[in-house]
Amino acid sequence: MAGSDRRVEREALVGSLERNGIRDRAVLDAMAWVPRERFVPEDLAADAYVDRALPIGEGQTVSQPWVVARMTELLEARPDHRVLEVGTGSGYQAAVLARIVRDVVSVERHAPLAERASALLRELGLDNVRVVTGDASAGHAAAAPYDRIIVTAASPGIHGDLAAQLAPGGRIVAPVGTERMQELVVRHSDGREEHHGGVMFVPLLGRAGFRPNGGSERKGGAA
Ligand code: SAM
Repeated sequence: MAGSDRRVEREALVGSLERNGIRDRAVLDAMAWVPRERFVPEDLAADAYVDRALPIGEGQTVSQPWVVARMTELLEARPDHRVLEVGTGSGYQAAVLARIVRDVVSVERHAPLAERASALLRELGLDNVRVVTGDASAGHAAAAPYDRIIVTAASPGIHGDLAAQLAPGGRIVAPVGTERMQELVVRHSDGREEHHGGVMFVPLLGRAGFRPNGGSERKGGAA
C-alpha cells in the first residue's frame, strides 16, 4: 500500500495540478495514491512533490508531475484498456496508469532501472504492470495490440511499427520533435493528429530513436 507519511504533500500537489488545468478525476485520484517519493532516490525524497523532473540514475529522469498528469489525461485511458509505455524509467508513470487501466506493459532499455521499477511496483501491489527490458523505440510487438500507447522519451517521430501495434480506436501520446524540444502529439489509430504544446524529454534511443545504436547519453537537462 502507498505510504501515508507524505499524504498531505501529495494532496497539495494534486490540488496544484487541478488549479493548473488537469480535469480528469481518474488521473488526479491515481496521482493522489501513488507515492512519488518511492520512485526517486532517497536523498531527493523531500523534493518528490515539487512539480519538477528529478534524476533517477543512468542519466535519466522521472518526468514533472504536471507532464505525467497531462499525458495521462490526453491518453483518455479507461479501466478495460491495455497500455504500452515506452520508457519505464522510475516506474512512476506506469504506477499512475496501473491505477486506471487493466494492464500495463512498460519497456525500459536500462536493465537496472527496469529491475528497480519492477520490484517497486510489485511491492506497491501493482500486479497489473509487466516491466520488460529492451528497445521499444518501435514498440513491443510481442504483447500487441494495445488500446493506448504512451511514449515517455523524446521521439523523432511515431514509427510505423509502433503505430501498427495500436488497436482500432486507440491513441498514442508521445513527445515528438528534436532532441532539444518536442510537442505533445496525440495520434489516433486513423492517422489523425492533435498537437498539445511544448515539452522537453530525454531522448528515445535505439532502432527507431535519435541514435540507432543507443550510444552515449547526455546527462540531466530534460524531463
Ligand atoms: N516514464 C518514466 C517515469 O515515470 O519515471 C520516465 C521516463 S524517462 C523521461 C525516459 C526513459 O526512456 C528513460 O528511462 C530511458 O532509458 C528510456 N528509453 C529511452 N529510449 C528507450 C527505448 N528505445 N526503449 C525503451 N526505453 C527507452
